[in-house]
Amino acid sequence: MLLEIKNLNVSYKTVNGISNVLNNFELSMDAGDIISIVGESGSGKSTLGGAITKLLPPSAIETGSVIVDGKDIVPMSESEITNMRGTTIFMIFQNPLNSLNPVKTVGYQLMEAARVRNDRSNENLDEEAMERLVIDTLRSMRLPDPEKIMKRYPHELSGGQVQRIVISMALILRPKLLIADEPTTALDVTIQAQVINLLKELNRDYKMSIIFITHDLSLAYSISNRIMVMYAGRIMELNDSEEIIKNPKHPYTIALLLSVPTKYKTETKLYYISGSPPSFFNLPAGCKFNPRCEKAFDKCREMEPDLIVSKGNSRIRCWLYE
Ligand code: SF4
Repeated sequence: MLLEIKNLNVSYKTVNGISNVLNNFELSMDAGDIISIVGESGSGKSTLGGAITKLLPPSAIETGSVIVDGKDIVPMSESEITNMRGTTIFMIFQNPLNSLNPVKTVGYQLMEAARVRNDRSNENLDEEAMERLVIDTLRSMRLPDPEKIMKRYPHELSGGQVQRIVISMALILRPKLLIADEPTTALDVTIQAQVINLLKELNRDYKMSIIFITHDLSLAYSISNRIMVMYAGRIMELNDSEEIIKNPKHPYTIALLLSVPTKYKTETKLYYISGSPPSFFNLPAGCKFNPRCEKAFDKCREMEPDLIVSKGNSRIRCWLYE
């Protein structure tokens, strides 16, 4: 198993008090899996991404374990996690500029990545071979004139080019686990499709596991073999992507699918989920989705359902399935 999250709790200390975002969170993932984490803003999906990469803000209080490639990263020091960053865990952010150093050229940063890979893998490439590797990688990303691009600074390139530079870095480092947090949101549709295809190639060619964080169920379906739907810091439904899209069970998953433009639209007007996700300071009693759920009944307002194991890979948190 590549990733095993056990009994994970993450809360934030704020001026308004403590907000508990993740409670007794559990998830496991095998090498080569692609799992998408889907939810609206405020569902806790980015906190989960931060916990898996150990990039939570200083105000976060974290307990439990996040075992990546056999090592629990929760108690790790900064220097211990630094040794895992790049070749074991690699993060792609929504704004790709966050992954790069603004005052170093693209070439400098990619050569650094090649040196890290070389040191940790004992491949013994010399500088010339590493430069060839970097140039070939940029070319395989369909970036024109790689030698010229290497001399540029990140801010001199377009958003789509910078995201492909970051993916080139992942290709050079070949991490076991790649976490992509809304990596295509800031890109136009054509570049979006290219980025999805590049991530799929990384998964296919290097058996790289990917956690894809998104608010977009159709994008999740296009890349992952499993989808986890999150709401108010809880897993609401987890299943094979095919099942989630073709046979959704949880009322929240169904509502998210109905909100996807055109394909799942059943009426002339696009469906929307009324209300907004609850604040972590003021979560409703019972099922956390009950104020917005069209199927809610008395029990939903009084008691919170557990996440139960349904058939095969399927998990669901809803009184309709108890
Ligand atoms: S438990 Fe009740 S409120 Fe929650 S999703 Fe199921 S039906 Fe809706």
